[in-house]
Amino acid sequence: MEALEQFLRTEAEPLQYAAFFGSLVILGFLELAISRSRAAPCRGRRWSINFGLTALNILILGAIPVSGVFVADYARDHGYGLLNVLSVSALLALPIGILVRSLLSWAIHLAMHKIPLFWRVHRLHHTDPVLDISTTVRFHPLEFLIATPVLLLAILAVGISPTALMAYEIFDAVMAVFSHANIRVPSSIERILRLVLVTPDVHRIHHSSRQAETDSNYGATLTIWDRLFGTYREKAPRALATMTLGLEECQDDRVNSIWWLLTLPVRTTRLINRQSFETQPDGAG
Ligand SMILES: [Zn+2]
Repeated sequence: MEALEQFLRTEAEPLQYAAFFGSLVILGFLELAISRSRAAPCRGRRWSINFGLTALNILILGAIPVSGVFVADYARDHGYGLLNVLSVSALLALPIGILVRSLLSWAIHLAMHKIPLFWRVHRLHHTDPVLDISTTVRFHPLEFLIATPVLLLAILAVGISPTALMAYEIFDAVMAVFSHANIRVPSSIERILRLVLVTPDVHRIHHSSRQAETDSNYGATLTIWDRLFGTYREKAPRALATMTLGLEECQDDRVNSIWWLLTLPVRTTRLINRQSFETQPDGAG
């Protein structure tokens, strides 16, 4: 286990970048060959916005001075966090840490939908009217500034091991691109994968324009948390290919304006409360 930790300490970051950019290239080609939806992918302006936000977010994440691994090291060195207090062995701490880290992603994502102030920020991710690899990091930069302190506090409280964190981040880099990819995984394989993993078909439902479907499948990597907490949902393949994506209330060209997207958190449009919009579809906006 020590050898794995030493290996990840030197190689985790390049491996994470390789996993992310390698997945973008491989799954990007697969989208051309086995696409789930034949709808026009609108790559030009949309890709420049989505990959522009990706670059911005990578810069901001690099500028955040405290990393998860730093906090995990601090917790272990000082005996903070449940797993450290209980002196859980390194062998057991690895799978537990990975599971807890994936649960934290699920919980933070749920909070992004349920807390109105957070939804103002997270909704940018849901404005994309098409789903493909470029949607992966279509996030408002503020989302990382909200999520990171929560994540760091949870890492400290649980005492997740640095090895588990580094391993999870590599896994997450692949899964983030995979789950957003517009690909049709053969159904016999997909049925097995989705027992545990968030497949493109599972995550596609979360990007539906219907709120009941948006409010499901919050998992980023594993489906077990949605299954456990009753937020898991499936849909027939034919319906998946033709369903409307994005937000029902903004199926127009505003979603292709970087200024509109970045100022979305402070906009007092009918986007503020989707529930009230759905009951008053002709409300002012
Ligand atoms: Zn979401």
